[in-house]
Amino acid sequence: MPVGKVWLVGAGPGDPGLLTLKGARALAQCDVLVYDYLASSAIVGLAPPDCEKIYVGKKAGAHTLTQDEITQLIVKLGLEGRHVVRLKGGDVFVFARGGEEAQALHAAGVPFEIVPGITSAIAAPAYAGIPITHRDHNTSFSISTGHENPLKGYSSLDFEKLANPSQTIVFLMAMGNLAAIVGELRKHGIPGDKPVAIVREGTKPTQETLVATLDTIVAEVERTKFAAPAIVVIGDVVNEREDIRWFDNGPLFGKRVLVTRPAVQADDFSARLWELGAEPIVAPTIAIGPPDDPGPANDAIERVRDYAWVIFTSRNGVDAFFDRLSERGRDARALGDTKVAAIGPKTAEALAARGLRVDFMPATFINEAVAEGMLERTRSGDRVLLFRAQEARDVVPETLRAAGRSVDDVAAYKTRTVVDPELARKAAGADILTFTSSSTVAGFLANVPGAPALCAGKTVACIGPVTAATAREAGIRVDVVADAFTIDGLVRALDNAVSA
Ligand code: SAH
Repeated sequence: MPVGKVWLVGAGPGDPGLLTLKGARALAQCDVLVYDYLASSAIVGLAPPDCEKIYVGKKAGAHTLTQDEITQLIVKLGLEGRHVVRLKGGDVFVFARGGEEAQALHAAGVPFEIVPGITSAIAAPAYAGIPITHRDHNTSFSISTGHENPLKGYSSLDFEKLANPSQTIVFLMAMGNLAAIVGELRKHGIPGDKPVAIVREGTKPTQETLVATLDTIVAEVERTKFAAPAIVVIGDVVNEREDIRWFDNGPLFGKRVLVTRPAVQADDFSARLWELGAEPIVAPTIAIGPPDDPGPANDAIERVRDYAWVIFTSRNGVDAFFDRLSERGRDARALGDTKVAAIGPKTAEALAARGLRVDFMPATFINEAVAEGMLERTRSGDRVLLFRAQEARDVVPETLRAAGRSVDDVAAYKTRTVVDPELARKAAGADILTFTSSSTVAGFLANVPGAPALCAGKTVACIGPVTAATAREAGIRVDVVADAFTIDGLVRALDNAVSA
């Protein structure tokens, strides 16, 4: 059997955007993923759907597998010829036993690669607005474990050297021994008023930062019940947080946002939310599939050159069109001189990805604007293909037909309601609910009994007026309606509304 390969990948500290490109590539091609509790679910989700995912735990005191068992496991998988990603929080070599795992792989003759990750030791302070070095304050920094082998006591941590006034001192895993660490630093000459910050769940929407001094930090931790996983930073750089704080003071920071759009389209939205410190809860209420009868779509594609215009009102329509076209062994040239219209920038982008430049996109991204713009650009008798959702609204074909255009309104795909027994629970845990089409609202209503009551205490945000009207008809109060009917517009509107 051919020997496989193991990638030791650092997942970064929590924010999925901090995974390296190389780590993402390794994940995308692995067939087994071995991960522990610090790895975020958004990163675990980058592994292929059919990849075997093995959770090995490793939270202080609650090991699912021992370190030896984990090491044996990855060696065994490698020897079996598997492509294994061993995913670790932060960096693989910063207090993460990556060294031992690599040695074991070497000893067993299993090829491996190391993909370093961004360590929480630097990133958690950075997300709290604390620079690990600053010319005004320090010329070095140290990273130590506060979780020393109890048998060894503190003998191996050289507090004499650590207690250097021109150094930023960082501790990982120090919450259990904080009082002893503080005592040692004081004993070795660090003044009691030296600033200390503790950053827990750094880079995540749940990030919290406690700022105190060496003298007061232990009491503050007790008072606030501040708990691991946390980074302890000791040094004057902590004071810079006042100016440099940037992540945990945004309006959407810490907010849990329900994303109801189809899973395939949720990625952009989720990424934007992570950037703002919000936590996306991806809970699609609809899924996109083929229409009940694909005949008309196929016929229209065969004869697409006969139309003066094709109108696309979503990325799904574009994808359906070109997927069907390509199944027929054809490509964009099938369109000949036929012009294309897109309802908005995402649809135009999808067309651009297929090599087509749009001939028309309205200034506002709604059906009414499409209809109006098309009237200006066509003449009575012109043939227009409307390639869109089976359940779409009638405004475009009605307007165009009333003005004598010949419209083929073709069902390109169908939006189906997803049945998710967990949806009501996920929604209940969210602060903000988002709807990006009327069908996401319908799917939500189908899954959440008593939806208006559940929504009452939350912020409800809709991508545009039509979606908002659908929600209101169902008795849901709508707080935010985007004015540019795009995901970016929705995120902007939310940001403004929440900070207002
Ligand atoms: N290899 C990891 C560290 C693993 S040791 C890295 O490079 O980040 C586990 C310790 O890391 C935790 O006890 C905590 O001290 C720290 N830690 C990991 N992720 C953290 C986060 N997001 N915020 C704060 N501390 C974190």
